Amino acid sequence: MTASTAAQAAYVVAALLFILSLAGLSRHETSRSGVVYGISGMAIALAATIGLASRSIAATGMGLLVLAMVIGAGIGLQRARRVEMTGMPELIAILHSFVGLAAVLVGWNGYLDVEARGAAQHEIAADLLRIHHAEVFIGVFIGAVTFTGSVIAFLKLSARIKSSPLMLPARNVLNLAALAAFVGLTVAFVVSPNVGLLVAVTAVALALGLHLVASIGGGDMPVVVSMLNSYSGWAAAASGFLLDNNLLIVTGALVGSSGAYLSYIMCTAMNRSFLSVIAGGFGVEAAVSDTTEYGDHREINAEDTAKLLRDAGSVVITPGYGMAVAQAQYPVADLTRRLRERGVQVRFGIHPVAGRLPGHMNVLLAEAKVPYDIVLEMDEINDDLAGTAVVLVIGANDTVNPAAVDDPGSPIAGMPVLRVWEAENVIVFKRSMSTGYAGVQNPLFFRENTQMLFGDAKERVEDILRAL
Ligand code: NDP
Repeated sequence: MTASTAAQAAYVVAALLFILSLAGLSRHETSRSGVVYGISGMAIALAATIGLASRSIAATGMGLLVLAMVIGAGIGLQRARRVEMTGMPELIAILHSFVGLAAVLVGWNGYLDVEARGAAQHEIAADLLRIHHAEVFIGVFIGAVTFTGSVIAFLKLSARIKSSPLMLPARNVLNLAALAAFVGLTVAFVVSPNVGLLVAVTAVALALGLHLVASIGGGDMPVVVSMLNSYSGWAAAASGFLLDNNLLIVTGALVGSSGAYLSYIMCTAMNRSFLSVIAGGFGVEAAVSDTTEYGDHREINAEDTAKLLRDAGSVVITPGYGMAVAQAQYPVADLTRRLRERGVQVRFGIHPVAGRLPGHMNVLLAEAKVPYDIVLEMDEINDDLAGTAVVLVIGANDTVNPAAVDDPGSPIAGMPVLRVWEAENVIVFKRSMSTGYAGVQNPLFFRENTQMLFGDAKERVEDILRAL
């Protein structure tokens, strides 16, 4: 068996492991084995690629390759160990940007190297040269859109820039013009390739990626992250064509299609148009600035909250991002236990995008050993909220905002939310009156049956435990 056949065989095994990994990751119970399959597939893929490269690369080149891998693996390991769960989406976003940047560099290299050494050196038949040029262009375009889009997503998710949407006057026209320019430039490049056209398409794609993600509001960021995941897959697949690497094509297509499907599922769950989100909020009108007079809010302290809970027949807890920040899940689990021992029915209502990554709240509650059977999805609990004595909103904001239902002009209009305001009493745990991730004020805080319990969520829940 030649080295090349052995590498191709290893690639097939790695591709199968990646498929098993995706299948495993789709369910809680099998997710650990999914991760193991993924790591094994990647280890095999790396070993086969290095083995294949070692046949054509000089010793210095191999040295540099190993050095780059050691540095990359070191940084990756370090970041993954240190990252808080709330920082996961921004880490994923910046990793997507690397895939995009790599696709741009592979594309540029694909063009410059063929120009410098001639197509024959690359075993590209003369009649396939045009296809090669189209591959270069498409790879650079998708890569550059993914790169700047992911950098903007990273900046928004890490709160380095505001999460509100950038509303340029003719933004839909700008996006369409960029797409038209891409098609025109591709045709021109295939007919007569030159560096100027490649520079032009890189610039157009960088600007388009930036504009697409900047135009999307904070509430839609979960969909953007999975959409960029999909783009990064297609960028990798495009690089696979250029590098003539079948595994990269298969893996890229797996990531691209699963990311697109995940985005579609999330759009359906959040009542958003899939096409509108991938087209940078196409068709969404600019929100009118909010001048609403909301009135006054009422405050409550931990002792009075404890009294309310003691007398309640049923309690629903709706956690959000603030519970993760405060790491309040442990005292919340203690509170749940104590109330259940007193005969109070306690359940959790989990919004699909609560926190900063899908399944965020479920993971935190499982970590604190809250029983699975009292943790319900939004659709399972929503109809029961009207008959609930007390709802504790712990660090959630956008996911319990009635404006999504009542105000068609709101940036989060149409997003399904937990209808906590239908309960008899609502206690909101947060530190101030500031807005949630989408940057929209929450009329819930000013409702008659709502009381605010200000302060760090963990400290306040501990105060309630003491008072109980
Ligand atoms: P939000 O981000 O809307 O609000 C969280 C609230 O927690 C804030 O209003 C903040 O108020 C409060 N808070 C922060 N720290 C603390 C603390 N230490 N103690 C008490 N309260 C605290 O949270 P939700 O979970 O309701 O909504 C998630 C939002 O994130 C949605 O807009 C969603 O679209 C978006 N998103 C979700 C992703 C996902 O995959 N789940 C990914 C990316 C974005 P204050 O500062 O006053 O304390």
